Amino acid sequence: MPTRATETLVIIGSGPAAWTAAVYGARANLRPLVFEGEPIGIMLPGGQLMTTTEVENYPGFPEGVTGPELMDRMKAQAMRFGTRVMSENVSSVDFTSHPFLLKPNYSDQVEALSVIVATGANARWLGIPNEERLAQMGGGVSACAVCDGALPCYRNKVLAVVGGGDTAMEESLYLTKFAKEVVIVHRRDQFRASKVMAERVLGHPKIRVLWNKRVVEVLGYQEITGIRLEDSATGERSDLEVGGLFVAIGHKPNTGFLAGQLQLTPSGYIHVHPWRTATSVDGVFAAGDVMDDYFRQAITAAGTGCMAALEAERWLAHKGLGESPLLETAETPLAASEG
Ligand code: NAP
Repeated sequence: MPTRATETLVIIGSGPAAWTAAVYGARANLRPLVFEGEPIGIMLPGGQLMTTTEVENYPGFPEGVTGPELMDRMKAQAMRFGTRVMSENVSSVDFTSHPFLLKPNYSDQVEALSVIVATGANARWLGIPNEERLAQMGGGVSACAVCDGALPCYRNKVLAVVGGGDTAMEESLYLTKFAKEVVIVHRRDQFRASKVMAERVLGHPKIRVLWNKRVVEVLGYQEITGIRLEDSATGERSDLEVGGLFVAIGHKPNTGFLAGQLQLTPSGYIHVHPWRTATSVDGVFAAGDVMDDYFRQAITAAGTGCMAALEAERWLAHKGLGESPLLETAETPLAASEG
C-alpha cells in the first residue's frame, strides 16, 4: 500500500474541537492535516452543528450565528494558517506501532506522528417519519434543548421531550423556563434517570409525564404541529398537539473506526486522563464530544480541541519529533500508562 510523507499531526473530525485543534496546531507550525469526513455517512463535515439552526450561546456572537456559519468560519480560520483538509472519512487506524497509520476511505494511507481524534457523537434519533427532516430544517424538532430551547419558536408552547434518562430530565427542567408546559413521553412506567433528577421533574408544576407511550410519528409539514403516540401495552394510538419535540434518548460517540484500539469509558466514549486529552495510546489525543458525555457544548468541544493541540505539540516536542520548538513547559507530558 503506497504511503504519503509522514504527517506531524493528523486531526480526524470537523466540528468545533477539530477546527480549534487545527488553528492551534497550524499556528504551532505542525502543519495539521484534517480529515473532515464526507457529506454522507456518520461523520458529517462540520459535525452536529450542521444540523443546528441558530447558535446563541457561543461567546463572541452577540446576535447569534447559525451552526453551519460557525463551522465555516472556524474552518476558514484553520485554513488561513495552513491547515490542509481532506474531505474523506478515516475508515481504519493502526495505533499499534509508531508512526501511526490511518486509512482514509479512498486515498492512500497516511503516516502520522501524532493524532487528535475529534469525531464527535451523534444524537440518537427515534427513526420515525418526519423527525430528521423537520430537525434539519429547523421545523421544531431538536436533539438539544440547551442549544435550541431558548429560540423564539419554542416560547410559550407545549413542548414534548422523549426519553427517561438524565438527559431527558435535564432538558425538561431547562425547557420549563420557556415552555407553557413540558410533556415527557416515556416508553416505560419508570424513569432510568437518577432519583434526584426524577424527583425534581415529577415535582415540577410545569411538567407532565405520559408513561408507557412511544412517539411513532411527527405531525406537520413546514413545522411541527403535534406527535402521534402509541401505548406500549395496548397499541392504542392518540395525537398530542405540541409546538416542539426534543428527542433525548442518548448519544452515540463515533468510535467505530478505532476498532477497540483506544480505551473507552463504560458508556463508550474515549477515555482521557482527567483535565487532559491524552488517551490510552501515547501520541493519540481526543477532543470534543467523542470524549465528553457530560458537557457536550460547542464551546467545551472547542476548549478541549485547544487542549489536545497543545498537548500534541508538547508531546511531539518532548519526544523530539516534528519541527515544533520545545515549549518552555516544566511539566513532561502524560505517559499513556499514567492516570
Ligand atoms: P440514557 O441514560 O441511556 O437514557 C436514554 C433514555 O432514552 C432511556 O430512558 C431509554 O428508555 C430511552 N430510549 C432509548 N431509546 C429509545 C427509543 N428508541 N424510543 C424511546 N425511548 C428510548 O441516556 P442519557 O439520558 O443521554 O444519559 C447518558 C449518560 O449521561 C447517563 O449515564 C446519564 O446519567 C449521564 N447524564 C448525566 C447528567 C447529569 O448528571 N446531570 C445529565 C445528562 C446525562 P429506557 O429507560 O426504557 O431504556
